[in-house]
Amino acid sequence: MSEMTIFLCLGSNLGDRHEVLAEGIAELERSGVTIEARSSVYETEPVGVEDQPWYLNQVVRGTTRLTPDELLKTCKRVEGLFGREPTGVRFGPRTLDIDILLYGDRVLTDDRLTIPHPRMHERRFVLVPLVEIAPRLADPRNGMDYTQMLERLDEGKKVTRSLPKNES
Ligand code: ADP
Ligand code: MG
Repeated sequence: MSEMTIFLCLGSNLGDRHEVLAEGIAELERSGVTIEARSSVYETEPVGVEDQPWYLNQVVRGTTRLTPDELLKTCKRVEGLFGREPTGVRFGPRTLDIDILLYGDRVLTDDRLTIPHPRMHERRFVLVPLVEIAPRLADPRNGMDYTQMLERLDEGKKVTRSLPKNES
């Protein structure tokens, strides 16, 4: 497997959320993913199930030799280390959620994995951090850049920068 550039979105709305994101990234780096860029951390209003704590979200760019399936398994394993257990509530609260946004410019769908992430283009909590680190990146499905896609979205849910307590 040659080296691929990937983008992941991490989210946490339980526990010490800043710590969880930082530790999750560190664990990915121990698991075959080299992190090359990370966005600011954003505090974001929940989408879907609204009666739950606000999230922190962060997007990272990395490189890996893992296949898409291996990368998904790795993300699930790292989520599990933080005690994420299936709650039966889709889009419900979680200590750590890791979504694969992009895997090079591959477009793929099977029952376990869809890349690009099927909802990324409608989620401000994904696009705001993504365009911070990759403003000219284009969606491999339609060639449109994510900055343009973000501009087309309504303001909707709140997404604001969040500094760890000891830095604010
Ligand atoms: P969400 O992140 O949308 O809130 P989950 O984290 O519970 O939902 O993910 C549910 C399932 O989505 C995962 O078990 C995984 O098999 C599947 N999935 C499909 N495409 C992706 C992707 N690009 N990144 C991560 N998971 C994905
Ligand atoms: Mg997920």
